[in-house]
Amino acid sequence: MVSADIENLIRLFSKLPGIGPRSARRCVLHLLKNKTLKMIPFIQQLEQTAAAIVECSGCGNLDTQSPCSLCVNPKRDMNVLCVVEQVADLWAMERAGGFKGLYHILGGALSSFNGIGPDELRIPYLVDRIRTLGVKEVILALNATIEGQTTTHYIANELEPCSVKITAIAHGIPLGGELDFLDPGTIMTAFSARRALDFEGEL
Ligand SMILES: [Zn+2]
Repeated sequence: MVSADIENLIRLFSKLPGIGPRSARRCVLHLLKNKTLKMIPFIQQLEQTAAAIVECSGCGNLDTQSPCSLCVNPKRDMNVLCVVEQVADLWAMERAGGFKGLYHILGGALSSFNGIGPDELRIPYLVDRIRTLGVKEVILALNATIEGQTTTHYIANELEPCSVKITAIAHGIPLGGELDFLDPGTIMTAFSARRALDFEGEL
């Protein structure tokens, strides 16, 4: 009924994260019905992006150059290094704004279940970068998952001989969040990470 070409395309789409077979069929049909306006530009952009984008040899970010534009930006503070799990986390931090240091993307988190050890991540290279860049503070901004927190503790231990200040981002009440709607784990994490208010009553 359906040509092998179309079937193959649907199969490729359905392998993308968050896209099931039904969404894959809808995407493919949408592209085929709008070849000039949607499908051809889509193909061209895929080819162009695949050819142009490389992984930064420093932080692991994706950019058209390596080292990436963040790593070579003279306005970024080389004294502070923020460690994140994935490229998407770096993007989230940049969208939030406010952080002016450099990044180090691990490529995931430690997971004995999935067989991911320190050598599968960019942890050994982190120590090299800290020494090369002369980093003064490492901010561990990993996910509030068991794997993320295990990785945070592992890295903190590994960096102990580096005589560098190690901090971790706080986990707890989201902005606009109400206590009554939160799970006990989130409330207790926020409670134990409480900070003293200064004289003006600001954190
Ligand atoms: Zn970089």
